[in-house]
Amino acid sequence: MRIPRFHLAGLAAFVVASVLVAGLIMVSGCPRHAVEPEFRAVPAGIPVIRVLIARVGSGEGVGIATTGSYTIFAAGRIVADSMDPLPEGRLSHRSGGWSLHAAGYIGDKLTVSTRGRSCVRVGANSYRGKVVFSIDQAGRIVAVNHVDMETYLAGVLARELYQSWHIRTYKAQAIAARTYAMYEMGAFGKTHRYDLRADQSSQVYGGVSAETDKARRAVEETRGMVLAAGPEGREKIFRAYYSACCGGVTNSVYVITGPPVTSGPLAGGQTCRDCASCTRYRWAPVTVSKEVVYRALSRRYQQVVDLNGLKTIKIVEVADCAGGGADFKPRPVWIDVVGLNGRKVRIRAEDLRMSLLADGYPRAKRLYSMNCRVRDVGGSIVFDRGRGFGHGVGLCQWGAQAKAQKGWPVEKILSAYYPGAKLFKAY
Ligand SMILES: [Zn+2]
Repeated sequence: MRIPRFHLAGLAAFVVASVLVAGLIMVSGCPRHAVEPEFRAVPAGIPVIRVLIARVGSGEGVGIATTGSYTIFAAGRIVADSMDPLPEGRLSHRSGGWSLHAAGYIGDKLTVSTRGRSCVRVGANSYRGKVVFSIDQAGRIVAVNHVDMETYLAGVLARELYQSWHIRTYKAQAIAARTYAMYEMGAFGKTHRYDLRADQSSQVYGGVSAETDKARRAVEETRGMVLAAGPEGREKIFRAYYSACCGGVTNSVYVITGPPVTSGPLAGGQTCRDCASCTRYRWAPVTVSKEVVYRALSRRYQQVVDLNGLKTIKIVEVADCAGGGADFKPRPVWIDVVGLNGRKVRIRAEDLRMSLLADGYPRAKRLYSMNCRVRDVGGSIVFDRGRGFGHGVGLCQWGAQAKAQKGWPVEKILSAYYPGAKLFKAY
């Protein structure tokens, strides 16, 4: 397989900058009182990604430690540098300064950087690279892991897939996750504190703690490979969504982003019988009382509070994927939440499920997708004829696993879920 090299103007500049800075650090060593380096010396050409790993109250603080040598930067200076591990301590922030063990450091930003095999522990997980702590507008501590893309992916794959799954499933997932991450790097921009979150709202990332040999191997064997789509010579990286189980046919990205998408690699409508072994391929009806639905939506949307309670839910728009065939059942995309006072608020169907999950309602965990029928039965809303797990857009993990077991090569698995997309080497 010959994979062409991919050039993304902004990304190329970003990579060049990181290599240059890394080079300067190696030439000049690490002088004391130096301005904090923006990037660690990472293998040539690999971009550094910034992942939000924790957000906690500044007084409450966060438990940190390192497993080996470390350097702490605060207010643009090296304030601690040791060849020994940093003992477990609580990092907190009060009245303009940081407090760790018995020491205090001024400023609103503090960086713990490691060398060699040393890692930073934040809460229960350990991370390679460096962790930047800063204070957000609400006064909370925001912890962001700056880590090279390949190391990041090794900490993602094992959290997304089962350990027993095929290496080709891992490799297809590595390429999809790298494409997604590269896209996101450009989306927020450099002024934002981070590129991605470490949970399901981006990609689940567990740092070093989550790495496995299989995950590392899949990342290494697909190094720099990404998907891009568009006219010949003008292909672009896209947000390569993926989910656990599509339920029989992939969805249009329409269900996540709102406006209709009828062409391109995320248009959906790809038949997938291969995820039938997933226990959530079809799922039992879930009944949720209207009070619970109202409470969950009120916590997320101020406008819903003004409805004075939930009268009903009306489907106003369904996804219509061409190509899904007889297996395709239109699924809700936009819904109206109708209040007891007759007013209504329009939200995406996917956000109704997210609101119920975020609210911690136990039965909502069995509402595996919004690929279902929504019915008003008086005091409750029933979600039935349920299919699939997750949003069902892009790569279907259970389907990819079945295809890998059948002997499908990685490129064929990817083109089944992202039609028209091509493989490129980004670095
Ligand atoms: Zn599927």
